[in-house]
Amino acid sequence: MKPATKFIHAGVHPDPSTGAIMTPIYQTSTFVQEGPGKHKGYEYARTQNPTRTQLQDALAAAENGKYGISFGSGLAATDTLLKLFKPGDEIICTNDLYGGTYRLMKKIWEPFGLKFHFIDMSNADNITAALTPATKMIWLETPTNPLMRIIDISACAEIAGNANAMLAVDNTFASPFLQNPLDLGADVVMHSATKYIGGHSDVVHGCLITNNKEVADQLYFLQNACGAVPGPQDCFLLLRGLKTLHVRMQRHCENGEKIAHFLRQHPKVAKVHWCGFQDHPNHHIAKTQMKDFGGMMSFELKDDTVTAANKVLSSTHIFACAESLGGVESLIGHPASMTHASIPREERIANGLTDSLIRLSVGIEDAEDLIGDLNQALG
Ligand SMILES: *Cc1c(COP(=O)(O)O)cnc(C)c1O
Repeated sequence: MKPATKFIHAGVHPDPSTGAIMTPIYQTSTFVQEGPGKHKGYEYARTQNPTRTQLQDALAAAENGKYGISFGSGLAATDTLLKLFKPGDEIICTNDLYGGTYRLMKKIWEPFGLKFHFIDMSNADNITAALTPATKMIWLETPTNPLMRIIDISACAEIAGNANAMLAVDNTFASPFLQNPLDLGADVVMHSATKYIGGHSDVVHGCLITNNKEVADQLYFLQNACGAVPGPQDCFLLLRGLKTLHVRMQRHCENGEKIAHFLRQHPKVAKVHWCGFQDHPNHHIAKTQMKDFGGMMSFELKDDTVTAANKVLSSTHIFACAESLGGVESLIGHPASMTHASIPREERIANGLTDSLIRLSVGIEDAEDLIGDLNQALG
């Protein structure tokens, strides 16, 4: 099946008791058994819920995977994956990780004995240098946030395979429409489905997808044993969001391209970070591993000050100043004072996050309206 058909049909089937074409919200905590242990595959809703089962199957299919495991948030998914490891195990990560993932690793898991190395993976050779006999996983995000760096998933999969380590990819920014890491050799894909998969800024959700039965069995065990499960209403919203993912992504990409080019020629803009530009340092990799370049980008102002950035952020009318991304509506954010405010200024600037850096999640509104909004805000 091609993506468009798969996002709408894969994993879901009409409700067996009524024929309802849309998966019902099974708002129940338990299931009546004919006799002790004699049931229809459902016992207790932390363990299994029919709405969640269909979502998990649909998400797995969306990533060309066999097994999908859903959680109450993206971070709950990542937290569960980290529970596969033991004190002394080492994990190599991209250095410009999603802030919440970094916090989870440093503040929660490092004190329990997992060891994390944060490195620049835009050159995959850097990973080889960080490998040790204790390396158990490579964790990466691509494109990265907010500088839109691109990491070569196939190259990382080869390094991980040779080192007997697992490769996990946070595919939130690309979405399953633009990039499928399992096809490129990754072992596990993680999504904050809160973003593009949900697509309407109305639900928080996370998932893990894999083709490895052994890993999947461990993750299903942890999902039930630790209990960070999503509610059925949230699963319903995700199933609904997934059905239009391809249509939304096509528009995100079209609008993203137009806005990236508009910003690049604007006299007040110093630099635009968007992986669709031919002179983006890893454009050639983006072109091979992604279907298109998406609606995420960031840009710097010639007047590289927080004041200048704040002026732009407080002057937009359509772009809403908010954290998060991937919804139908356009969002604008200022990493230095919002998502990355906890990083000391010098460290932040050394990592390329300048004072005036502004991040956009380009929505699916009319492109001319969006450009007009940015134009007046920059003016
Ligand atoms: C939002 C986000 C997360 C965390 O997901 P939640 O659903 O907010 O818990 C992880 N990774 C990336 C890239 C994200 O954007």
